[in-house]
Amino acid sequence: MQYSDKVMDHFLNPRNVGQIEDASGVGEVGNAKCGDIMKIFLDIEDEIIKDVKFQTFGCGSAIASSSMATEMVKGKTIHEALAVTNKAVAEALDGLPPVKMHCSVLAEQAIKAALIDYAEKNNIHIPELDGVVIDDDHDHHHDIEED
Ligand SMILES: [Zn+2]
Repeated sequence: MQYSDKVMDHFLNPRNVGQIEDASGVGEVGNAKCGDIMKIFLDIEDEIIKDVKFQTFGCGSAIASSSMATEMVKGKTIHEALAVTNKAVAEALDGLPPVKMHCSVLAEQAIKAALIDYAEKNNIHIPELDGVVIDDDHDHHHDIEED
């Protein structure tokens, strides 16, 4: 499997690793395909993402995607962060192998989950998050992805 230099760089030197005490929002998502678990912490002030940290237990693509995604939302408004899609993350990494695209989906979902958490904690409404469903494989639903 061929990985881009950017994927290798973010895998070997991931940015924003860690956690934030008293984070404004925390999102945790997982996928069954690689067994990746991703947790993202956001520090939000005046609708701006002041700081972001992540902890990812998973494959190299999941770690590279989390690292790139945190770089892409840091310093951005909530609105701008919600525009960061998994495709944008994969493109910023100069592409991911097709079988690894789901790892970038995880990064997008972790950010959204953290923003949903933030919105709930602060009782605010973020229109972009209406109807967003976070795929949480933690319950290990047996109706999908059994191979
Ligand atoms: Zn993965």
